[in-house]
Amino acid sequence: MKNCPFCHNSPFRKNKLGYYQCDGCGLVIDEKMRLDTLQLDKIKDAYFEDSFTVEKDKWAQFFDGLNTSRVLKTISSFQNGGKKLLEIGIGHGDFLNGAKKQGFDVTGCETSKTIASYVQKKYGVEVFNGYVEDFPKEREFDVIVLRHVLEHMPDPINSMKKIVSLLKDKGVLYIAVPNIGSFNASFKGWVAYEPYHLFYYSDKALASLTGLFGLNIRKKETYEPFSGFFLTFLKTLRSAPTQT
Ligand SMILES: [Zn+2]
Repeated sequence: MKNCPFCHNSPFRKNKLGYYQCDGCGLVIDEKMRLDTLQLDKIKDAYFEDSFTVEKDKWAQFFDGLNTSRVLKTISSFQNGGKKLLEIGIGHGDFLNGAKKQGFDVTGCETSKTIASYVQKKYGVEVFNGYVEDFPKEREFDVIVLRHVLEHMPDPINSMKKIVSLLKDKGVLYIAVPNIGSFNASFKGWVAYEPYHLFYYSDKALASLTGLFGLNIRKKETYEPFSGFFLTFLKTLRSAPTQT
């Protein structure tokens, strides 16, 4: 690959850990992106299909609850009260459930059939089973949440195009990804180097990607929850209707 899909004019070079990284924005594209869709799906299924339907222990539930409150608090500080919320990639469904409890009208979008039906039943929330690209296009949301999802998406530009089209004017998009620019990422043992991650984002790479869609970054922060992850949270506010 010669040019970066996000910032366009910089070459990719192998970094000291052997990953291909953009000189301009720091985006890392994993070697696995050379695999075809079927192979990528197999990797994903091997790691996610059933593990997300196992009950978490009390500690994990407790920290998840704290995380959910923190994320919802941040989101609420940037929007004017619209309650329609879409989460893409729903994990165990705890975030959707937490948002529902705080009065949001929640919908999930989830590629795994097992997880989608598990969460739908457990929490009584609406979950669309499929890729966001196939999500009904007439729907619109005040808030869209992607927590540790973007790094799994094989075609982030195309996915973002759809996501932004589902976002209302002045809606809030909340993105959390592992931060390739973090100190920990310079070590081979960084917890986010996972077999199922396809891209690694720096804050500049996220800014380049969201910038392609006319999104304004209102807040970004690096955060270390108790699990030991360094995360970059980026929040964007849609400023103008996006021409697609
Ligand atoms: Zn770049």
